[in-house]
Amino acid sequence: MSRRLLVVGGGITGLTAGYRLAVDNPELDVTVLEASPRAGGYLQTGLLEDPVLDELPIDAGADAFLVRVPWARDLCHELDLADELVSPSARQASLWLDGTLRPLPTPNVLGVPLDPATVADGLLEPEDLRLVAGDGIPAVALDPSADASVGSVVRACVGNRVFERLVDPLLGGVNAGRADDLSCEVMAPQLLGAARSPDGMLAGLRRSVAGTDPTAPVFHSPRGGMERLVDALTSVLGDRFQTGVTVTGLSRGDGPNARWLVSTSTGTQAADAVVLAVPAHIAADLVASIDAGAGTLLAEWQHASVALATIAYDRADLEVDPAQSGFLVGRSEGLLMTACSFAGSKWAHLDHPERTVLRVSCGRIDDTRPNGFSDKALLEALRGDLATTLGVEAPPTAVRLGRFPDSLVQFPVGHSDRINQLDGLLADSAPGVLVAGSVRTGVGIPACIRSGTEAARQATELATELAN
Ligand SMILES: Cc1cc2nc3c(=O)[nH]c(=O)nc-3n(C[C@H](O)[C@H](O)[C@H](O)COP(=O)(O)OP(=O)(O)OC[C@H]3O[C@@H](n4cnc5c(N)ncnc54)[C@H](O)[C@@H]3O)c2cc1C
Repeated sequence: MSRRLLVVGGGITGLTAGYRLAVDNPELDVTVLEASPRAGGYLQTGLLEDPVLDELPIDAGADAFLVRVPWARDLCHELDLADELVSPSARQASLWLDGTLRPLPTPNVLGVPLDPATVADGLLEPEDLRLVAGDGIPAVALDPSADASVGSVVRACVGNRVFERLVDPLLGGVNAGRADDLSCEVMAPQLLGAARSPDGMLAGLRRSVAGTDPTAPVFHSPRGGMERLVDALTSVLGDRFQTGVTVTGLSRGDGPNARWLVSTSTGTQAADAVVLAVPAHIAADLVASIDAGAGTLLAEWQHASVALATIAYDRADLEVDPAQSGFLVGRSEGLLMTACSFAGSKWAHLDHPERTVLRVSCGRIDDTRPNGFSDKALLEALRGDLATTLGVEAPPTAVRLGRFPDSLVQFPVGHSDRINQLDGLLADSAPGVLVAGSVRTGVGIPACIRSGTEAARQATELATELAN
C-alpha cells in the first residue's frame, strides 16, 4: 500500500516539505493542503495600481533571503531559478534616531559596530566608542553553555547604548521583537559565539568578518519577486497541492498501525504522517486534542503582528539616495513605522525613472497601535511618518497595504529547550505528527526551507519504517 503523507499549510515551509517528499520519494502519496485560495503564505508578489508601474511585480511581504546560509539559495538553484536571482544594488542602510538619519556603521554584525571610526557623529557617546575600539570582553561573565537574551549578551560586551541604539533596531526589525527578550542562541548565534570567545565579542566578530568578502551579496531574490519560488514549487507539485482546504482537526484512527485522520473543510483524509507547517497557534489547536500538553506549549508561542505598506511617489516629488537601501527606526522615536526600504535603490529592476517606491513596515510585539487603525488611517499615519523622516508631503501615485496578523514568531530565551520538549511530547503521543516552519528555528525564509526539508526527511523515515 502506498504511504500517504499530508502537509498542512502551503507557505514556503509546507511547499518545501511537499516538494521534497514528491521529488525525493515519488513512491509516496503526498498532498499539501492550503486553506487560502493562493499558495505562498507570507511570500506574496503583486502589481501596484499605478499606470506607470503596472507591469512591475513588487513583493508585498518577504522580499529577499539571506545567502550566508545555503538552504534558500540551493533550493532556487535546484528549481532552475539561479539565472533569475538578483542582489541588492544598494547595501548601506541608515537609522532614524534623535530625529535624524545617520548611516549604520560598516562593518557591523547585527548592528554591533566593529570599527569606531565608521560610527556616525552623534550616534554613540565617547565612552561607547572606547568600548567599540576594544575587544568586547563581557563585563559580567556569560554562562558558557546556557542561552541568554540578545540584550544581556550585547549590553555586557559593548554597553547599553550600542545595544539600544544599534542592535535593538536592527534585530527587532527581523521579527518585530524586543531584543532584550529574544534568545541570542536563535536570533544572533554569531554574537553569542563571539561573546563566548576568550578574547571577547568584538575580537571574535572581527576575526569572522576578516575571512569574508565584503562585496559578496548578502541577500538574493528572484527578479520576478518571491512568488517565483512559490510558482516553481507548486508547478512541480501539480495537483498534489490543493488550495481552499482548511484543516480543522486531527485524530487517530482505531487499531494497531492506525492512520491519522485529518478533518478538513472538504472531508476527512487519512495519512501515515502529517507535517503541520502552519503558525504556532493553529498547530496548537490541531495537536491539542491528541496531546493537551503539546497544545498548551505551542499556544504559548507569541507572534507579533505587522503591516507593510508599498507606497509609490512621483520621482519629481521624492528622490532617495541611490546608495541607501533604506532605514530603520529606533523604538524610542515614537513613530509608527519601524523600517522603510527604498525598493528602487535596493533592487535595480525596480529602479523606475518616473517613480520612487517605498516599502514601509510597522508593528512590533510591544507596539500594537497599527491593529487599531483602519487601512485608510494607517496609510495616512505612515505618510505622516514619511513626511517627518524623508520630508515628502506630496500625494503618492499608488499605495498598497498588507496586514500580517500574528505573523512573526518571538523566540524567548530557552526557545531550543521548548522545541525539544515539544518534539519529545509529540514523539510519544503523536508519532508521525511533525511541527515545522518559522516556529522552530527562525522566521527567515532559509530557516523555513531548512525546516520543511527536515520535516520531509523525518516523515519519509517514518513512512519507510511503517512499510517494513
Ligand atoms: C511582512 C513580512 C516581511 C517578511 N520579510 C522577510 C524577508 O524579507 N526575508 C525573510 O527571509 N523572511 C521574511 N519574513 C518572514 C518569512 O516570510 C516567514 O517567516 C515565512 O514566509 C513563513 O513561512 P511558513 O510557510 O512557515 O508560514 P506561512 O507563510 O504562515 O504559511 C502557512 C500557511 O498555512 C496556511 N494555513 C493556516 N492555517 C491552515 C489550516 N488550518 N489549514 C490549511 N492551511 C492553513 C496559511 O494560509 C499559510 O498559507 C517576512 C514576514 C513578514 C510577515
